[in-house]
Amino acid sequence: MDAENTIAAISTARGQAGVGIIKISGSEAIKIADKVFKSAKGKKVQDLEGYSALYGRVYENDDCLDEVIVLFFKAPNSYTGEDVVEIQCHGGIYITEKILKVVLNNGAKLASTGEFTQRAFLNGKLDLTQAEGVMDLISAQGQKAAKAALLARDGALSKNVNKVKSLLLEIAANLSAYSDYPDEIIPELNEENLKGKLEAIRDDLERLLGTYDSSRVIKEGIDTVIVGKPNVGKSTLMNYLSGYEKSIVTDIPGTTRDVVEESVRLGDIVLKVSDTAGIRNTNDPVELIGVKKAKDKLKTADLVLVIFDLSRELSIEDEELVENIAKSNTIAIFNKSDLERKFDYEKIKSKFTEFVFMSAIDGKGVDDLKNAISKVVKLKKIDLDDGFLFNRRQFECVKCAMNAVNEAINTYNLGFTLDAVEVMIEDAISELLKLTGERVTESVTDEIFSRFCVGK
Ligand code: GDP
Repeated sequence: MDAENTIAAISTARGQAGVGIIKISGSEAIKIADKVFKSAKGKKVQDLEGYSALYGRVYENDDCLDEVIVLFFKAPNSYTGEDVVEIQCHGGIYITEKILKVVLNNGAKLASTGEFTQRAFLNGKLDLTQAEGVMDLISAQGQKAAKAALLARDGALSKNVNKVKSLLLEIAANLSAYSDYPDEIIPELNEENLKGKLEAIRDDLERLLGTYDSSRVIKEGIDTVIVGKPNVGKSTLMNYLSGYEKSIVTDIPGTTRDVVEESVRLGDIVLKVSDTAGIRNTNDPVELIGVKKAKDKLKTADLVLVIFDLSRELSIEDEELVENIAKSNTIAIFNKSDLERKFDYEKIKSKFTEFVFMSAIDGKGVDDLKNAISKVVKLKKIDLDDGFLFNRRQFECVKCAMNAVNEAINTYNLGFTLDAVEVMIEDAISELLKLTGERVTESVTDEIFSRFCVGK
C-alpha cells in the first residue's frame, strides 16, 4: 500500500439506488474534487471547513455528468485520518462508474479492497480488532451479530485485551527491574503476588477464549444439518425455512445429491442449515458421494434435524438411522402430518429428547420446532459488552497468549529463574500486540484487509 497516493472507489453497492457514493481519500482529495466538481454558488472544496457539504455538479471537461452533493472531512478528523471527499451522486451503475473514472483521470488511484479502513488503521484511527469489527458489521446477518460487530468496532474487545496487556506489562517491568537489580526486594514478585496475578490473567484469557464458540453461532448461525431417507420432505422443509426454492423438490428419490447450505432465521435463532442427500443404501456412485457427505456432516453439526415420513410405514432404514444418530443434539421431525399416518412413531420417539409433528409443505408445527431448537441448543449467555473473539485470527492470538502465561506459571512452579518467566511473559504480550495490530507484519494486515470490500 502506498500511503502517498490519493485513492478513490465507489463506496455504495453496485446497482440502482437513490444515491451512489464515490469516496476520495488522501492529500490530493481536495484538489481532485475541485477539478471535477463545480458548486452552484461557485464555492470551492478547498474553501470548506471540515464536516461540511456543497451542492453542485460533476463535469468531465465541459460535459455535465450529474447533480451531486459533496461532503468534506478534513484530516485528521475523517474515517481514514486523511482529507476525505465524498461525492454523492444518483445511484446508477453507469453514473457512479463514470464519475469514478473522471476522478481517477484527475489523479486518484483506484483503492484496493479495504484500503480506506487499512489507512484508518495505519493512521491510528482504529486498531486491528476494531477494523475487523467494521468488516463484520458490513457482513452481519442478524441483530445480535450487528450489535456485537458494532461493539467490536467501538473497541469492546480491545479494551478487554488492553487491560490484560497492561497487567502483563506491569509484571514484565518488575521482572526486568529484578534482572537489573537482583539484590533489590520487589514485593510484586513474591510468590503469592506473582502467581496470583498470572493465574488471574490466565483465567481472563480463558474466559475470552470461551466466547469464540458463541460468537461463531451469533455470526454464522447454528451449524444445522437436515437428514432423513429420500422423499421424507428434507428439501421441502429447507425451502419452507429459507422462504424460497433452493433445493430441488421432486418425488423421485435421490434428487438432492449434494449438500445445499442456507442461512435461515427462526425468530431470534439463525440456523446455518445444510440439506443433504437422502441417507439410504445405494449403488449409484454419484448418490453414494452425497450419502457420504451427509454422514460426514452429521458428525460435525451442532444441531441435527432428522425427518421421518408419517405417511409411510416405519422401515429398517428408518430404524438404522435412529441407531446411528447422536441423541443429545438431535430433534426428530415427524413430517407430513397432514396425510394419513402409517408410521409407528411411538416405537422410536422415546429415543429422542425432542420430537415434533410437522407438515413441511405448509409450515404447520414450525413453532414447535423453534421451541425444540431452543431447548436442544443451549446457547451460552455471553455479555456482548465485555468483548469477545470474533474470528480465528483473534482466537489463535489469545490462545497463544494463554499458553505462554500457562508456561510462565509452570516455569515458576518448577523453580526456574525469574528470567525464564520473563521470556514467557514477553511472548504473551507479543501475542496480544499481534491481536490489536500494534505489532503485526504488513503481510498479515494486507491479508486481513484483502477480505474487505472495495470502497470501505
Ligand atoms: P426429500 O427427498 O427428503 O428432500 O423430500 P422432498 O422435500 O423432495 O419431498 C418429497 C415429496 O414429499 C414431495 O412431493 C413433497 O411435495 C412432499 N412433501 C414434503 N413434505 C410434505 C408434507 O408435509 N405434506 C405432504 N403432503 N407432502 C409433503
